Amino acid sequence: MIKKDGFHYCFDEQKCKICKGKCCIGEGYVFLTDTDIIDISGFLKITKEDFLRLYTRKVNYKIALIDLAINGEKRCVFLNERYQCEIYPKRPKQCREFPFWDSLKDKPIESVKELCLGVLKC
Ligand code: SF4
Repeated sequence: MIKKDGFHYCFDEQKCKICKGKCCIGEGYVFLTDTDIIDISGFLKITKEDFLRLYTRKVNYKIALIDLAINGEKRCVFLNERYQCEIYPKRPKQCREFPFWDSLKDKPIESVKELCLGVLKC
């Protein structure tokens, strides 16, 4: 169970085993930091330039992972058919911090639960 200062909910990471990648499917962007780009390209053993060309796109002035359209769903390019993250040890900061995002901090717990099965009352 993970608790974070300033948040009114906790996160049970065990729920990720049964969730089927809810946070990796659907609308939205996975934005990357410079460190993410270095870490993921190193993990994939490809150059930073190849990583950017193959797996990312520009969204205004930011860099985001691309999505794939599979069975009518938009899925993160790194979510595999078993609903596992192919880059889990080096997944982006945005993914590591979910569901403790500032944008969710003041939302009612029911709204956050709709996004993440692992969210529960502390
Ligand atoms: S990088 Fe991994 S954890 Fe992040 S959205 Fe893609 S599949 Fe999910």
